[in-house]
Amino acid sequence: MDINKLKVLFTEDEIQRRIKELSEEMNKFYKGEEVYAICVLKGAVMFATDLVKNLNMPLKMEFIRLSSYNGGTTTSGKVNAVDISLPDLNNKNVLIIEDIVDTGLTAKFLLDFMNCNFHTKSTKFCSLLDKKIKRVTEVEPDYYGFEVDDKFLVGYGLDYDGYYRNLRYIGYADKF
Ligand code: 5GP
Repeated sequence: MDINKLKVLFTEDEIQRRIKELSEEMNKFYKGEEVYAICVLKGAVMFATDLVKNLNMPLKMEFIRLSSYNGGTTTSGKVNAVDISLPDLNNKNVLIIEDIVDTGLTAKFLLDFMNCNFHTKSTKFCSLLDKKIKRVTEVEPDYYGFEVDDKFLVGYGLDYDGYYRNLRYIGYADKF
């Protein structure tokens, strides 16, 4: 693991500026209505915590844990619900917060899970990054921070084999 080999794609400033813009849109959309913000661990932890600090409606945070990578740089194609225990979300505004939508399988899994288990008042999907070029499902995030190319990204919650999540920026390496 060599941080010096990473190239910066989005700086800390760029990320924080975009989060402010997204939160302004959300503050307008929800207009003071209560929201359940659901952070998808582990990758979305940095994004979710920074985003909610900029939201001004009554808000509760929930955390669920999924996995689809087995420590490498490609998805296994199968989403595992490691821990998906949630309170009663019937008639609630639900905002799912993800790090990145790649194939869209995780997003589809989560949206199907919500539909099957709850009649929410609204369900919105927000992802910091959107790798549209890799999509194999028809799912699109309602909110996203940046569209990205087909590169394996790390930093700001995103890991390679558990490392790099603590970086303040998002970067990539030619080879891991
Ligand atoms: P999807 O189900 O959309 O294919 O992938 C979603 C999950 O795959 C993300 O939540 C993330 O954990 C992982 N993932 C997808 N692309 C990347 C990437 O470029 N870097 C890292 N670190 N994880 C990724």
